[in-house]
Amino acid sequence: MAAKAGKRVLVFDTTLRDGEQSPGASMNLTEKLEVARALDLLGVDIIEAGFPITSPDDFEAVRAVGREVKRPTVAALARCVAKDIDRAAEAVRDAAKPRIHVFLATSRIHREFKLRKARSEILRLSVEGVRRAKSAVADVQFSPEDAARTEPDFLAEVVEAVIAAGATTVNIPDTVGWATPDGFRRVIEHLFEHVPNIARAVIAVHCHDDLGMAVANSLAAVQAGARQVECTVNGIGERAGNAALEEIVMALATRPDAFGGCRTAVRTERLYPTSRLVSRVTGMVVQRNKAVVGENAFAHESGIHADGVLKERTTYEIMDPRAVGLKTSRLVLGKHSGRHQFRQRLKELGFRLTSKQVDDLFFGPFKELADRKKEVFDEDIEALVENELVTAPEVWRLVGIQVATGTGGMPTATVELENAERRTRVRDAATGDGPVDAIFRAMERLTGVALKLADYQIRSVTGGKEAQGEVRLEAQCGKRTVAGRGVSTDILEASAKAYLMAINRTLARRMKKRRVNRKGRRGRQASGKSKRK
Ligand SMILES: [Zn+2]
Repeated sequence: MAAKAGKRVLVFDTTLRDGEQSPGASMNLTEKLEVARALDLLGVDIIEAGFPITSPDDFEAVRAVGREVKRPTVAALARCVAKDIDRAAEAVRDAAKPRIHVFLATSRIHREFKLRKARSEILRLSVEGVRRAKSAVADVQFSPEDAARTEPDFLAEVVEAVIAAGATTVNIPDTVGWATPDGFRRVIEHLFEHVPNIARAVIAVHCHDDLGMAVANSLAAVQAGARQVECTVNGIGERAGNAALEEIVMALATRPDAFGGCRTAVRTERLYPTSRLVSRVTGMVVQRNKAVVGENAFAHESGIHADGVLKERTTYEIMDPRAVGLKTSRLVLGKHSGRHQFRQRLKELGFRLTSKQVDDLFFGPFKELADRKKEVFDEDIEALVENELVTAPEVWRLVGIQVATGTGGMPTATVELENAERRTRVRDAATGDGPVDAIFRAMERLTGVALKLADYQIRSVTGGKEAQGEVRLEAQCGKRTVAGRGVSTDILEASAKAYLMAINRTLARRMKKRRVNRKGRRGRQASGKSKRK
């Protein structure tokens, strides 16, 4: 443990940047703001909100997040190029605590094949980039991309130079997931031994999970003196993903003995709700056996284990499920609950909604659900809110479906949709291999969007006979994957909602593309940039 460094580890969340870059995880502006608010509540120190030069949408997202959340630092990514840095500076201008994060590859393989630049050139550009960012904001972070594969002495030289140029944080990324815990610890130790001005900056790490070692590598770096860890909720990110925020946080909280008492300021009881939110807006399902936030993380199936936990929880549980925000289903509301109770419960669940949103939810979907289902659980309410509010923009809205099935017959579905913009309703029917297939075909006819279904899963959100069913699906539109999710007490309706969400997302993506193309040269300039870091 480096003696100089304190015990506080800063959490730099890059769910909205690195996480959002992963295939199938793109979020729209409304969803990004929702996630940013959740990250603020969670207590992360820095939110990396995007890479402004890559697209007008990324720029807009960074600016909106900077205006929305005031407690955490809001960072924008930029290459060591003047126009990138200036665009990033513009994007964080309204943030209460702005940071510009510049990066340039330093490893031999990137220098020779990607950049075709000598060491001296890399050094000069790094320093120039930091200086340019420093002229716009005080808080500047520099990342030598692919640091884990950079010659240790050259890496030390770059780190010293950028700190001298004004970098206040230097992040050491394992961009390609190449490092091992021992090797990465030595990389960080080497820097603490060979960079004379290292105490003037926070040393950070950014690890990828290609070999499943992102969290282990990050924690080894903390043992060597790193005091900022870059991570994402549920570990989403490029390729196999980034270090998972919830795992880093709980490892430090559960094993202070192993990490010299280092700690984060994350409110651990917000981990589970935040994980659920990110999973919902990205459509990326969390694997059941995922550490900390997986459905099975606190489930005990074997008789011996279950018996042990009942006698004394700590026999088989090293973390208290309540500490990560997991709670058992509780009956909270029903048909006779009032609007005040509903509003109160929403607040307790961490949703911050306007009065109009609460009223719309209460008199619409909540009343409807309470009629159909006598007991309304927390999970039902969460599903309601997210189903109704997080799926914007909605081009088509489901009005109704009717399905006719029978033995030996042909399942037929009649679907009615409303176009949200034109306020017109359309109706059509189609046959299919099964009732769900028939619904999807009818929707394709109505919207003109043809998707290829790649994955389809049903699960119950809550217990009981009247449980809400959740359908999650992934569909292919050309080369791109689009996810959809729907919740209802009726599985066919949930399927219809999920498919419609995928259709709406496809349409939103097409509109976005058209907007970018209209912007002409700027759009073209920004395309084709490497988003990897
Ligand atoms: Zn990355």
